[in-house]
Amino acid sequence: MKSRSSLGPDWIECPHCEAPCRRKRLPDGCELRCARCGSTVIEPIGKKTFQPALSLSVAGLIALFLATIRPVLTFDVAGREQAGYLFTGVRELLHQGYWMIAILVFFASIFAPALYLASVSYVSAACAFRLRLPQVSLCYHITDWAEPWNLIPVYSIATVVSVVKLRMIGGVTWNDGARWVLCVAVLTLLAQQVFDRRLVEHRLEAMGALGGSKRVGMMNDSFRVSTARALVTTAALLYIPSNIIPVMTMTVAGKTEPLTVLGGVKELWDSNLPAIAGVVFLASFVVPFLKVISLSWILWLHGTDFHQSTRNSIHRIVHRIGSWSMIDIFLLAVLSAVGQLGALGSVIANPGAIYFCGVMICCLFAAEIYKPRLIWESHEDLTI
Ligand SMILES: [Zn+2]
Repeated sequence: MKSRSSLGPDWIECPHCEAPCRRKRLPDGCELRCARCGSTVIEPIGKKTFQPALSLSVAGLIALFLATIRPVLTFDVAGREQAGYLFTGVRELLHQGYWMIAILVFFASIFAPALYLASVSYVSAACAFRLRLPQVSLCYHITDWAEPWNLIPVYSIATVVSVVKLRMIGGVTWNDGARWVLCVAVLTLLAQQVFDRRLVEHRLEAMGALGGSKRVGMMNDSFRVSTARALVTTAALLYIPSNIIPVMTMTVAGKTEPLTVLGGVKELWDSNLPAIAGVVFLASFVVPFLKVISLSWILWLHGTDFHQSTRNSIHRIVHRIGSWSMIDIFLLAVLSAVGQLGALGSVIANPGAIYFCGVMICCLFAAEIYKPRLIWESHEDLTI
């Protein structure tokens, strides 16, 4: 078996399953694919440059700054109104004692997007102008780490859903901040598309600036498997209370109503909003359920060679769509931000939201800790 640490210059690691693949001279327009999982290992560089990622990430940072200083929504009921900023929901959740949810919302809607965009700009500037900037290798690893936590696109959808919900009880006005949030979401998605990791690695290597291994060897494989199993079991246990206990209490015109995840969906459905109800149902109920089931199945089959490529594809899907269940937590943050008008219309968090966050965080970490290579490596000789 070829040890990963003994890879020579003729070998390159698959970015998805970490299988060693032999470098080949490729004809024009051809790409090198991993023989094991089918991911692209080397693709034609062609005329790609670093400028698009640089300009999109810098524009994204400016838009994020404007999104945080301008109000996003104004909610009014019976002549009383309240404006909500990006950070008002965080402050309100902290005020209500839900610090864990507040930290998660702050992290995923402000901190991680800022970190991701700043590190992409820094690395792209270093590559575009061939600058030996300090800590550029560390910043490159940060772009990888921060990307799945940059959930501003999910936040912008949650804002739209919250407007629909708030319109049932009062008037809502879109403010400047909402446009900037949408701008950040679009710029982030575009920057993710054009920020080409292989191109960056190629340039950093040529500049001698890519130091250290991508892999941080803090956990051995059996520890990874047992930790992932413990996390998925915890997520499965938390899934039950997260759907039974209300996640929020809404007060409308003096009438107080606690809402569970499915209660919120039913309310949207009853208000003749089937499309929005469908989105929330999928993101908040179906996605967490499927994540727990599929991760349990992947981990249950660990060490066997059954359905390896199916498990690999499912792992990739879980990793990609997993964060969409944050929509309900962002919804709670946006509603809490503007829904503080006492008996006229208010929204407060309930303990169900903590269980819901628990399910999401456990699944996210489990998918992160159980690397796709573990699906393949248990019995397989890695020599290609
Ligand atoms: Zn692979």
